Amino acid sequence: MAFLTLEGVSKEFGTFTAVRDVDLKIDKGEFVSLLGPSGCGKTTTLQMIAGLVEPTQGRISLDGRDITHEKPNRRGLGVVFQSYALFPHMTVAQNVAFGLEMRRVPQAERTKRVREALSLVQLSSFADRYPRQLSGGQRQRVAIARALVIAPPVLLLDEPLSNLDAKLREEMQFELRRIQRKVGTTTIMVTHDQAEALSISDRVVVMEGGCMTQVDAPYRLYEQPSNAFISSFVGKTNLLAGTWRRNGASSAVDIGGVLLEATAKDIPAATPVTLSIRPEKILLREAGTGRLDGRIASRFFLGSQWLFTVDTPVGIVTVSAPNQGGEPPEEGSAVGLDWSPANLRVIADTAVAA
Ligand code: ATP
Repeated sequence: MAFLTLEGVSKEFGTFTAVRDVDLKIDKGEFVSLLGPSGCGKTTTLQMIAGLVEPTQGRISLDGRDITHEKPNRRGLGVVFQSYALFPHMTVAQNVAFGLEMRRVPQAERTKRVREALSLVQLSSFADRYPRQLSGGQRQRVAIARALVIAPPVLLLDEPLSNLDAKLREEMQFELRRIQRKVGTTTIMVTHDQAEALSISDRVVVMEGGCMTQVDAPYRLYEQPSNAFISSFVGKTNLLAGTWRRNGASSAVDIGGVLLEATAKDIPAATPVTLSIRPEKILLREAGTGRLDGRIASRFFLGSQWLFTVDTPVGIVTVSAPNQGGEPPEEGSAVGLDWSPANLRVIADTAVAA
């Protein structure tokens, strides 16, 4: 049985539906991210789990217990928000001890658990410092220690890393995952950063307009997005509008008269479709030797890879290639684009509106 379950959960603010009919089952020890653009209902969903917002409809249960209408403090979940406000007049150790004091945990036990929590986030030597004497990343780790010290059944994180600069943010992503693996706390994180969601989660829940549109492991989400929005939101992709053609055993997407061989299940002939192909799945070859000819419109050096935009009969196609030394094709040069048809994803346009 799942550890945390949401069944038909909705939230209306007046006439506006912020979250619509969400069903989700999370296993004990899982790290799940809620991913989606601004305003799609991620925070509202997290707050309903925390007990800070009451669902208009549906049921939330934790370890078999219905908690839909239970007060936040009775749920005892650990919460870390974007503005993780530490108490400025308390030391790091006092900040971490706060939740234990509120729960009247005896002094000796408190000291031991604070020590363990600080060791977990690698801040043992910072126990007597004040928040103002810490870097952003260190403060964030104190906030995580403060949430974990009460040994919550579930840890809820709302954009916990968004105040950090890019490099620190990346370091903290690994750190967060390391800590979560070590303590095994079931964790739900809200983020609008797809790279963050992919890199640290066991599963990602994609939300669009208050609805959950796909729940999958990061790899599957990236390789098999269920609609065109997800394929462009999760990673980069080329989206080409066309029509689905079938002729006996062969099938292709027709883009303005250019036929690109592809396979897809259950799409009737003549359906409008979107073809998605990732830039890294396209190989640059000599002109005339690929599946599509084009001309390099621009090229960008990104360090570990090159990014090209290629002008083709089906429109501009973005291609990325690992930097393996040597000079790549110049702007203006004729090239051939090749790929394995298995790497093309055909999405019926009915799925886009879903
Ligand atoms: P962001 O990434 O920008 O934080 P989000 O996906 O977390 O967005 P929510 O904060 O859950 O989105 O909000 C979902 C929708 O519900 C938004 O359109 C928001 O304006 C609306 N909303 C949230 N809280 C309230 C409220 N208390 N009253 C009215 N509308 C609200």
